[in-house]
Amino acid sequence: MAYWNQRTVAKRVSCTGVGLHSGAPVTLTLAPAPADAGVAFVRMDLGVEIPARHDLVVDTRLSTSLALGGARVSTVEHVLSALQGMGIDNCRVEVDGPEIPILDGSAAPFVALVNEAGVKVQKAAKRYVVITQPVEVREGDKLARLEPSDGFSVSFTADFGHPLITNQGFALAVSDRSYEREVARARTFCFRKDIEAMQAVGLAKGGSLENAIVVDEYSILNPEGLRWPDEFARHKVLDAIGDLALLGKPLLGSLTAVKSGHALNQALVKRVLADPTCHRIVQVSEESEAARARLPFPVGSGAQQPA
Ligand SMILES: [Zn+2]
Repeated sequence: MAYWNQRTVAKRVSCTGVGLHSGAPVTLTLAPAPADAGVAFVRMDLGVEIPARHDLVVDTRLSTSLALGGARVSTVEHVLSALQGMGIDNCRVEVDGPEIPILDGSAAPFVALVNEAGVKVQKAAKRYVVITQPVEVREGDKLARLEPSDGFSVSFTADFGHPLITNQGFALAVSDRSYEREVARARTFCFRKDIEAMQAVGLAKGGSLENAIVVDEYSILNPEGLRWPDEFARHKVLDAIGDLALLGKPLLGSLTAVKSGHALNQALVKRVLADPTCHRIVQVSEESEAARARLPFPVGSGAQQPA
């Protein structure tokens, strides 16, 4: 077994929080899953398993929701981002309600769960989606573009026409250590003017300064301020990594995103998978030693050493 093999969590670990939109308490458990199982959400209250697949996306307006057979799970992107960012291929994400807990609005609590569980290296080799030709989607001035690359990297430019979030960029070459250090703690954000509108239609009931950065015309309302000056762009990188996880396999490619969001990121995922000329699926054991050396996740936190 080696570094380029598939990984799961080594044991069950749980946390409890509220859903951002429902405000209802929910318990989430990360549980080990067999090789090639991928990531799946399990609605324990309904007994329904919802694989983390792009074709099960039903809503991308404020967060990404998946549904299968009438069962739904919402706000999946931060836990998917954490699993992808930590190099976890296979995991059961069990929840006892319709929404993933928002916790502090970042992916750090899910990274902490993975670290608490430890990483188990599995016998099967990782399978990657390898981008072989540039592929992009545009909508107005928004762009999401993938290009061939030896590793997995994300570059995001955020621009909300707001004095605090104008032309703010962040780029990350993803490895589990860089993900944990550079983006996992970046929180989701919203504008104060949008909160009343959301709450009027029954959304964001669980939202507070404990789980989101709230911005008014000129300032940050959170008394503790920002975790980084460019926390907004870092969070958009975090979101994009979670959205690309719906490719179903880790990615070898370089994403450039400008003002993109869940909807455009999902459109890119669909375009990639619909176009066999821009990607191929590679099982790493088929590749050379030199190719292996360039892969992300050469060393994982808590991962076993190769035998
Ligand atoms: Zn987010």
